[in-house]
Amino acid sequence: MSVLTSQIRTTLTEKSSLPEVDFNNVPFGRVFSDHMLVAQFEDGAWKDPEIVPYGPLPFYPSLMALNYGQSIFEGMKAFRGIEGDVRMFRPRANFERMNKSAARMSMQQLPEHVFLDGLRALLELDKGWVPSEEQGSLYIRPLYFASDQFIGVHSSENYTFTIFTCPVGAYYSRPVNLVVNKDFVRAAPGGTGAAKAAGNYAGAMLPDKIAKSQGYDNVLWLDAKELTNVEECGTMNVFFIIDGTVITPNLSGTILPGINRASAIKLLKDNGYKVEERPISIHEIEAAYMDGKLEDCFGAGTAATISHVAKIGYAGRDMILPPVEDRAISNWVKETMHDIKTGAKSDPYGWIERV
Ligand SMILES: *Cc1c(COP(=O)(O)O)cnc(C)c1O
Repeated sequence: MSVLTSQIRTTLTEKSSLPEVDFNNVPFGRVFSDHMLVAQFEDGAWKDPEIVPYGPLPFYPSLMALNYGQSIFEGMKAFRGIEGDVRMFRPRANFERMNKSAARMSMQQLPEHVFLDGLRALLELDKGWVPSEEQGSLYIRPLYFASDQFIGVHSSENYTFTIFTCPVGAYYSRPVNLVVNKDFVRAAPGGTGAAKAAGNYAGAMLPDKIAKSQGYDNVLWLDAKELTNVEECGTMNVFFIIDGTVITPNLSGTILPGINRASAIKLLKDNGYKVEERPISIHEIEAAYMDGKLEDCFGAGTAATISHVAKIGYAGRDMILPPVEDRAISNWVKETMHDIKTGAKSDPYGWIERV
């Protein structure tokens, strides 16, 4: 059946798989909602986006995205409010960041109507896939890649943009263990670290596997030049609290500008906390730890919002952080962000967009 939803041509699935989903037990990232948005940039122009049943996209092995990695993505979530309404958190920020990533990867810019109107139409259609507030949220994956079927090395002329979604359970975030590994870097000056590029993730998989084999969860990344300044943890932005001051690395060009990072900084500053965005070295962290002044370390990102760090392995020793119950500041940020996302607290910043 073909219908028009918000001016976007829509082909409905013949059989919804929604009745089969147990929202109390969804495995992360394996259950996909009924529909996806697809838009093509072809022959120098954007074709009208379409919503179609979630399914395979046809392409040949010569697809440029696969051969040379011209591929970027976004990660965002829709939440069900305490009144049952469907809410997005700062979707425009994801749209703007995707276009910054596109510029860095020499890809065509995405028009607002393709990303934002397409997203809204998709969510309106698949609203029923957003779990209840207690059950979790709907993870949204905008994906954008070079779709020339050509193996010459230059920017693609054709591009495919798609958005698909999957319900995810309430993210139980056990505190994570980080480890520094000076054999690897995530991003170098002049490189692609500030873009949400697929290849950045590919390069991080071996160091991540090594960290896990050593009993840690994620890598605490250092800068590529001096191997001194802390940059990010795993696929999250990193924060430290030393002697009451919240410190997070400044956006130097090698750090992904996280939307949760920016939101946490805003909330903290507006509520009277002292926040510094500046380079912070692993030596400063070690010295603070020795002095008993390292009060907290946490990651910020869409998956868990705030992820507490239990310990940091560096130079063969572990820095053990205080119990999570004692971390008043980060617990406050985590709760406040969650409450704004679900509507338990009012949204003073206009961060929420209702579907
Ligand atoms: C996506 C991402 C983040 C977090 O960004 P959010 O917008 O807060 O989800 C941080 N670091 C890396 C490397 C990322 O890819």
